[in-house]
Amino acid sequence: MSITVLIAIAALALAAGLFIFRAIPGVRAFFDFRGKRLITCPETNKAEAVDVDAVEAGLGAFLSEPTLHLKECSRWPERQNCGQECLKQIEADPENCLVWNIVSRWYEGKTCALCHKPLGRLHHLDHAPALLAPDRKTVEWTDVLPQQLPDLFNTHKPICWNCHVTETFRRVHPELVTEREYEPKRMR
Ligand SMILES: [Zn+2]
Repeated sequence: MSITVLIAIAALALAAGLFIFRAIPGVRAFFDFRGKRLITCPETNKAEAVDVDAVEAGLGAFLSEPTLHLKECSRWPERQNCGQECLKQIEADPENCLVWNIVSRWYEGKTCALCHKPLGRLHHLDHAPALLAPDRKTVEWTDVLPQQLPDLFNTHKPICWNCHVTETFRRVHPELVTEREYEPKRMR
């Protein structure tokens, strides 16, 4: 093997090593900045839902450091040209403002307002828990606009998915539901 070939192999190995060395922070930044987030809009002081461009953040981290820009905001297209000052909140604590984490923290430690079953943290494979409105209408948390969640957490109660299904059936087909008083002896 000639010296030239050896040098070429060494250069290729070095380039591959450098690529992997830079790819790790790139991939990490991509996963860190994925997902819908809730921020407090500096202009309105209200909760808004935003998405960071995770691909751009990953590429930025691959080349030097993550570059953060919004890909979506619930105030767009009206405020599409704003200064994106809310990115500081995301940079300061990317995990804390993820909608999934905010919702999970809200349900954790609570019990279903109807059947009193304990509700834990969210799991991706489980049925989504729901919210019970003061008028007894129920809605899955995934079916409401993320920016409305902070207000709904003050007015609604947490319920499990089973109770949400039962309440929905009761509301949609009241003619098919017979209300009976609970009689413990019948259960034996
Ligand atoms: Zn329940």
